[in-house]
Formats: sequence, structure tokens, C-alpha cells
Amino acid sequence: MESYWSVGTEAPDTPPLPSTLRVDAAVVGAGFSGIAAAYYLAEAGLSVALLEAGEAADGASGRNGGQVLPGWSENMVRVADRHGVEVAGALWSLAEEALRRVSDLAAMHNIDCDLGRVGHLEAGGSAREIAELEAELRFLERWRDRNRSWWDAAQIEAAVGTRAYLGGYFDPGGMAFHPRRYALGLLGQARRMGVQLYQHTPVRGWERRHGGFRVGAGQGFVECREIVLATNAYPPAFAPWLRSRILPVSSAQVAIRLSERDVLPPAMPTVSDTKAELNYYRRVGQDTFLFGGRALASEFRRGDFASLRRQLADLFPSLARAPVTHQWSGRIAITRDFIPHLMRMPDGVWTLGGYTGHGAALSTEFGFLAAHAVTHERPDPRAEALMAMDWHAFPLGRAGRHLFPVVVGALDVRRRLALKRR
Ligand SMILES: Cc1cc2nc3c(=O)[nH]c(=O)nc-3n(C[C@H](O)[C@H](O)[C@H](O)COP(=O)(O)OP(=O)(O)OC[C@H]3O[C@@H](n4cnc5c(N)ncnc54)[C@H](O)[C@@H]3O)c2cc1C
Repeated sequence: MESYWSVGTEAPDTPPLPSTLRVDAAVVGAGFSGIAAAYYLAEAGLSVALLEAGEAADGASGRNGGQVLPGWSENMVRVADRHGVEVAGALWSLAEEALRRVSDLAAMHNIDCDLGRVGHLEAGGSAREIAELEAELRFLERWRDRNRSWWDAAQIEAAVGTRAYLGGYFDPGGMAFHPRRYALGLLGQARRMGVQLYQHTPVRGWERRHGGFRVGAGQGFVECREIVLATNAYPPAFAPWLRSRILPVSSAQVAIRLSERDVLPPAMPTVSDTKAELNYYRRVGQDTFLFGGRALASEFRRGDFASLRRQLADLFPSLARAPVTHQWSGRIAITRDFIPHLMRMPDGVWTLGGYTGHGAALSTEFGFLAAHAVTHERPDPRAEALMAMDWHAFPLGRAGRHLFPVVVGALDVRRRLALKRR
């Protein structure tokens, strides 16, 4: 089944790259990251080719939960423990800038993407999860940027309609949008600024030529000075440096049609939890509920997410039999430190990504920072701390990548047995 967001949102109809093209910069991947990078490169006056293997916004950017989240995937207390409070503060400011940038771009270009500030709840179901969330809330209070508040189980039940959590913190800065309309809207603006979009044009690799690059893409070539590789959870085989640093994992989602009998609070915040299934959910309008989380490997193959339905029924028993109108999945890019990175690879190509399921806002900011890095000698001062951090490879290299599916498969069998015992 197609994604809820794809209904009525067509990618532009553009031909693949026909032959050889010469531009200042080639951007690979037309999701939030690549579109934003192309937009800002064009704004800086560069000629840009945006090369997409499939259609624009067909990757994670057109398949996510549409939760425009504050902060980062990693708990800020752990970031501060590892890198110091100053670095954590610099990262926090970048994430705040990301929220502002998404709102500003949507407003400036009249992107019709239902962007709204609904607030975000980060909820926990065990004493350990609660302790971590409370510690993060206390830590964030030092920046006094807005009033976040702790909600106990009763407050969560009133605001969200489930008794499944012991507590969590509410951040009024969280937003929600229609991700595909945002991506395609920004893409439309980038094209009006001169970005040349080539879809169905998979990049096959590149070689260095005359101080620049010759990129093999689709049936043709692009000659350019700079490349930005924005493939996030789809790192290509010809980029082993990036591939060893990104672990793609799948996440599943269902859209539920609500009826008048389903008593969910009419204006609920977006929610994600720290329980084992890592569920995230939100309302869209009055009659749709989007629910995401983990599913079994076999379910991803079949495209039928029975275990996700069980997770939904655990949290919202009244929705156990509600009709599913759409179900789909996409790939999330995990990094070793759960923090996305922006870096120049040893071959001179810029790359960005690894948002660990938390990239709806950050990827636009990273696209901006990538364009800044291409067009300036020194990084944007706001990104210095980020760009000074190492981007560690996963251990065991190729062997690790081959072993990982085996390990995940074994875990899946254990989870399947657990589900059967219910
Ligand atoms: C199911 C799901 C739910 C999520 N929910 C949320 C959420 O609610 N909130 C949140 O903050 N984040 C969420 N995320 C994460 C968020 O969607 C991503 O972080 C973000 O979309 C990443 O954007 P991107 O442009 O970097 O990657 P993508 O949108 O995946 O774009 C990468 C593009 O690169 C293209 N590509 C790959 N290889 C090549 C090649 N060789 N040549 C040309 N093109 C190529 C792909 O086709 C793809 O279009 C979710 C992710 C998923 C999968």
C-alpha cells in the first residue's frame, strides 16, 4: 500500500539526465537534505544538478511521521557527558535553528504543508526511561528558551488518550507538517531558482577530473566542481566510507481512519516514546491517526504490519479494530553515536545524514550547512562543534554489515515468540 502522504502529491514530471552536463555542483538524492542543499547552493549563485535515483521525496522524506521534532535523537545528557556541556549547547542551538528554518522557508515560499505548532511529548513507560527523560528535562532547563513541562501519567492520559506511560516531558516547540508537500514545495522553489532536477537518474559513481569530478549518472555524466551526497539511509555501494558509517533500519507506519466513537483528544501533540518498540504517533486532521514503530523483518517483506497493529492496540485498546487505510515503511539511518554528521569524505565529496529517525527539521538545517561548507572556506560558526566531531564507522566493516541482518533476524525470532505468547 502507498504512503498516506503520497495521495494527491505527485513529484514533478522531469526527464532523466540525457547526456553530459556541466554545472558547479551536483547534489545526489532529492529528499529534505538534498533539496535544501540544492536550494541554498542555487541561492549562493551556483549552477546545480539535483540527481535522484527514483522520484523526489520517495525516500524517508516522503514517508515519515511528519513530526517536526525539537532537539536530537540522542539524549542531551549523554551528549554532554561525552562531549561537554558547551558542545551540547551548540548542538541544541542548531536544532532550534532547524525548527526556525523550516517555518521560515514554508512561510517565505507559501509552501502549503499544514505546518503547525502542536507541541511534542517524549514519553516513557519504565522507571529507567522516566529517570532518563527527567534528567534530560532538567538539563534542557539551563537554556531557558521556553517552558517545557513534566506530565505525569494522568496528564498524559488527558492529553493523548493512553494510560501506557508513567510520565514524559512536553515541549511546546514541536511542530507537525505534511512532509511530502513540504519537500515538493521546497523543490519547486529550488527549481524556480535554477536547480536542474533529474529523476530516475541513479548516480553510479564518480572520478576526479581536472580538479573537479566526473559523475556517472543514469545514461549520462555530470562534470562539476563539488558533490554533495545526500542519500541518508540509502548509502550507495560505491561510497564505502559513508556505507561503513550508516546503518539503515526499517520503520513501519499505518494510517487509521478514526470514527466518532474513537475518543482521542481532538488536539493532541505529536508523541514519541522510549519503550522497546519506539512508537511515534499523531493525529492528522479530525479523522486520521498515524502510528509508527518497529515491525518484524518478515512483515516488511510482506508489507503487512500485524505486530504494529498489536502495539497500537496495547497503547489504544479502542483502536484495535479501527480500519487501516494506508501502511508503508521507510529507512532510517542510524549512526554509531546516534547523532547525524556533515563531513567531507576522504575523496573530497561532502556528505551529510544519519538523522536516526529525527531528521524532519534537522535535514533542512544540514542541507543549509552543507551548501555553506561548499561555498565557504570555513564552516558556519554555528556548525563548528558539529563538524569537529568524529563520524565513527561501525566496527567490523563489511563483515559487520553482513552480520547485522543475521543478528537482527535472531532478535526478530525472539520477538516473534514473545508476540505469540501474548
Ligand atoms: C517511517 C519513517 C518515519 C519517520 N518519522 C520521522 C518523524 O516523524 N520526525 C522526524 O524528525 N524524522 C522522522 N523520520 C526521519 C526523516 O524522515 C529523515 O531523517 C529525513 O527524511 C532524511 O531526509 P534525507 O533527504 O536525508 O533522506 P531521504 O529522504 O531518504 O533522501 C535520500 C534520497 O537519496 C536517493 N538516492 C539514494 N541513492 C542514490 C543514488 N545512487 N543516486 C541518486 N539518488 C540516490 C534516494 O532515492 C532518496 O530519495 C522518519 C523516517 C522514516 C523512514
